[in-house]
Amino acid sequence: MTKFPPPCSKCGKRQSIYYRPYSGERLCISCFIDSIRERVEKTISRYDMFKFDSRIAIGVSGGKDSLGLLHILSEIEGKYPKAELIAITIDEGVKGYRDEALSLAMKACQQRGIEHLVLSFEDLFHLSMDEVASKPRELIPCSYCGVLRRRALNEAARRVDADRLATAHNLDDMAQTALLNVLRGDMNRLGMMNPGGKTLPGFVRRVKPYCEVPERESTLYAYLVGFEFQSLPCPYAAEAMRTDIRGFLNRMEVKRPGTKFIVYRTALKLIPKIRGVEVRGRCSVCGEPTPNRICRVCQMIMELTEKGQSNKF
Ligand code: SF4
Ligand code: ZN
Repeated sequence: MTKFPPPCSKCGKRQSIYYRPYSGERLCISCFIDSIRERVEKTISRYDMFKFDSRIAIGVSGGKDSLGLLHILSEIEGKYPKAELIAITIDEGVKGYRDEALSLAMKACQQRGIEHLVLSFEDLFHLSMDEVASKPRELIPCSYCGVLRRRALNEAARRVDADRLATAHNLDDMAQTALLNVLRGDMNRLGMMNPGGKTLPGFVRRVKPYCEVPERESTLYAYLVGFEFQSLPCPYAAEAMRTDIRGFLNRMEVKRPGTKFIVYRTALKLIPKIRGVEVRGRCSVCGEPTPNRICRVCQMIMELTEKGQSNKF
C-alpha cells in the first residue's frame, strides 16, 4: 500500500509536504528549502552575476520575494568574506501599503545586520505615487511607478557605491513581463529581461537571481523559513494589464504545468535576436543616460507637474 503523504523524492526519508507539478517531484520541508537556495545559486553562476568581492545592492520591498532573496543572499555572502550586501528600499509613497512593507524591510535588515538605505519618490522627484494617482494623467499609475522606481533603484545603488543591483523578480514576474511586451508589441523591451543584466555607462548592472523561483514557491519558502512579509496588494495594482496577464498565466499553469517556464525561456531565446535600444546621449534636463533628448522620467514629471518643467534631481 502507498504511504500517504509519500516520501520526499530527493532524500527518500522524510514525508513530502509539497508536490511540484511542473517537475513531478514531491519534497519534504528541508529539501524544498534547499531546492530554492540551490536554484538561486545556479542562476547566479549561470549568468556570472557576482564577483567574489561584489558590492551588491539588493532591492528590498518588504514582500516575500525580496525578503526571500535577502535571506538567501545573506547566507551565500557568508561564504564570500569580501562581498558586501546593502539593502535598498524605494518608498513610492502609497499610504497604508508601503508603510507596512517598509517596517518589515527594516526589521529584516536589522535582524541580519545589513546596511539599509531608504529613498523615496518624494526625495527624488518631489512627488509621491498617491499624488501621481490623483493628478490628471494619460497613463495608469503603474506605468509612472515602474519608470520612476527603475530610476530610483539605480540612483540608490549608485549612492551606496554598489557594482551590482539585485532585484527579486520571480518566475511569474518574468513570464508576465514577456507576455506584456508581446501584447503591447514592444519587442525591444524584451532585451531588458536578461537576468544577468549588462554593464552600461550610468547604470549599475542589474541582476535577477530569483528569476526561476515561481511565486507560489516563493510564498511557501517564506512561510517555511518563517519570516514576516507584506501580503497586502498595492491599491493601484488592479488597474494594470499585468494583473490580467497574471490571472491568465495562473489558469494556464494549473491546466498545463510548466507554462510559466516555457514563456520565460522562450523570451530568453528571443533576446539575442533583438536589437535593443541604444543609449548614447544624456537627458538635457537631468543629465541621465537616455536614447532621447529628454528622458522618460523627466517627460513624465513634466506631464504631471503644473509648472511644466522637470525637477532637477
Ligand atoms: Fe507601483 Fe503599480 Fe506596483 Fe503599486 S502596483 S507599487 S503603483 S507598480
Ligand atoms: Zn531626464
